[in-house]
Amino acid sequence: MAKKEKGHCSFCGRPEHETNILVSGIDSQICNFCIEQANLILKEESAESFDVPHEQASILKPIEIKTFLDKYVIGQEDAKKVLSVAVYNHYKRIAQEDDNNEVEIEKSNIILVGETGTGKTLLAKTISRLLHVPFAIADATVLTEAGYVGEDVESILTRLLQAADYNVAAAEKGIIFIDEIDKIARKSDNPSITRDVSGEGVQQALLKLLEGTAVNVPPQGGRKHPEQKMISVDTKNILFISGGAFHGIDRIIASRLRTNVVGYSFSGVKDENIDRKRLLQYIAPGDLKNFGLIPEIVGRLPVLSYLDPLDKSALKRILTEPKNAITKQFEKLFNMDGIKLKFDEDALEFVVDKSDEFKLGARGLRSIIEAILVDAMFELPSKKRTKQLHVTLPYAKEKFGKTSLSILRTAV
Ligand code: ADP
Repeated sequence: MAKKEKGHCSFCGRPEHETNILVSGIDSQICNFCIEQANLILKEESAESFDVPHEQASILKPIEIKTFLDKYVIGQEDAKKVLSVAVYNHYKRIAQEDDNNEVEIEKSNIILVGETGTGKTLLAKTISRLLHVPFAIADATVLTEAGYVGEDVESILTRLLQAADYNVAAAEKGIIFIDEIDKIARKSDNPSITRDVSGEGVQQALLKLLEGTAVNVPPQGGRKHPEQKMISVDTKNILFISGGAFHGIDRIIASRLRTNVVGYSFSGVKDENIDRKRLLQYIAPGDLKNFGLIPEIVGRLPVLSYLDPLDKSALKRILTEPKNAITKQFEKLFNMDGIKLKFDEDALEFVVDKSDEFKLGARGLRSIIEAILVDAMFELPSKKRTKQLHVTLPYAKEKFGKTSLSILRTAV
C-alpha cells in the first residue's frame, strides 16, 4: 500500500532514507526509482511515433534496456546483455556525432548466432519497440537468389523506409535485422575457389550498407526503373543486427578450441572446463570467417553473441511468462467474450512436450495451443452461459488428438 505520510514515496512507500531523491508535489512525493519506472512505462506505452534519442541524457542505460528485454525474451542472458550494451553504445555514438571530437566511435553492428526459433528476431524486434525506431527484417537468402545483387540489397532499405512512413531521418536511425546471414557464406573457406561466388557477391554488396554509405533507394521497391524517383538514404547511423543458425559452426569452434588448448585456449577456458554441449558460447569472429563470411563483413559486425537452444523448461516459460506470452494472449481473447480461461500445469507441460517431440520449438507452442482451443473458440462465444474454460490434461490431449500433425509441421 502506498503510504502518504511525509518522508515516504507516495507510489512505492519507500522511506526517504532508502531513496536517492524524493521529489515533492502538492500533497505527495515520488522517489527516483518510481520516476525511472514511470519513464520506462512512458517509453514503452507512448504512441508509435519515432523518437530517436539525440542527447546522451535521454539514452536508456544498458541495465534498463536489458530489463525491458527480460519482459519479452526468456533466457538468452548473454545475448541480452551484449545487445543492451551494443544498442547503448550505438545511440551514444549518434549522440556524440555533433561534437568535433577526433575520437570517432565505430558502429556496433551485431551478429547473433543460434538455432532458428531461439529468439534472434524477437530480440531485434523488442529493441526497436523499446526505442521507437523504424525496424525492418530482411532475409539474406532472398538476396542470394536474385541476379541483380546491388538492387536487391537496396530493397532492404525500401522496407525500412516503408516502416518509417517514408520519414527519411527516422529511417536513417532505424534498425535492420538481417536474417539467415549464414546462408550467404562462401561454401568453401578457400577464397580462390570461384565456383561459389554468389554468396560472396551479396556479402560485398551488404558490406557497403554496413560500412555506412548514401544509397539511392527505390521507394516502392523492385527493380530500378527510370520513372521511379529515388530517395537517398544514408546508412551511417542505421544499426544492423544480423542473425543466423550457422549449422556446423560448433565443429569449427571445437577444432579451434582443441588446437588452442595447450594450457588455456583463446577464450581463456581451460580444456577440462569446456562445456562441449554448449560450444556456441565460445564463438569468436575467426569462426565466422572459417564458416565463410568474408573478413570485411565480420569486421563490420563487431559485436558477436550467441543464443542457447531452448530446452523444455525454457519452452514452458515462453508459454506463460513473457509480457505477451501465448497463454496471456488467449486468456485475453477469451476474456473479451466474458470467459475465464485457465490452464492446468500438466496441460501446459503436454503442450511443451508435443512441441519438443515434433521439433517445433517455440514457434510450435502457439500452433498447439491454437489446435487445443479451436473448438472452444468456435463454440463458446455463442453459449451465453459458459463463463469458464478449464484446460485440463485430458482436455488438451483429446483436442490435440483431433488435429492433424502434418498441419502442425507445416505451421512453422
Ligand atoms: P529466430 O529469429 O531465432 O529464428 P524468433 O525470434 O523468430 O527466432 O522466434 C520465433 C518465435 O518463438 C518468437 O516470435 C517468440 O514467440 C518465440 N521465442 C523464441 N525464442 C524465445 C525466447 N527466448 N523468449 C520468448 N519467446 C521466444
